[in-house]
Amino acid sequence: MSKRRDRRLMGRAFGLARLNQGMTGVNPSVGCVILDADGHIVGEGVTGIGGRPHAEEIALDIAGGAAKGGTAYVTLEPCRERSQGGKSCSVKLKEAGIGRVVCSVLDPHPVANGGILNLRNAGIRVEVGTGRHVAERLYKAFFASIG
Ligand SMILES: [Zn+2]
Repeated sequence: MSKRRDRRLMGRAFGLARLNQGMTGVNPSVGCVILDADGHIVGEGVTGIGGRPHAEEIALDIAGGAAKGGTAYVTLEPCRERSQGGKSCSVKLKEAGIGRVVCSVLDPHPVANGGILNLRNAGIRVEVGTGRHVAERLYKAFFASIG
């Protein structure tokens, strides 16, 4: 998978994230694009109005079994734990059999932070940094709110 293609697909994920920006409560609006093992888009999602479901959950639901061995592009670190119970996105990505995760920046929120470590511990290839500057602008207020 080329860097150019990674950037293009992350750009698509940012496009999704912008759709609900400002409408997701205290949660950041995240975009997620999932490719199957052959590189076809099989799922997409954006954080729901009010903050849930999370983008990854929506994209994984759409992708179903096609996510196995595929790649997930996420505009922010997938969450490590959920503040209100339920499976976190990092656990769901792992259970779906995702082979690779590309994300732009780490999530500084104490509950969400560590999702990438979860994924790496599960043997999933994780790359951080694609679209970092776009994410830093998009999530400026969210990052500032955490301090
Ligand atoms: Zn999540």
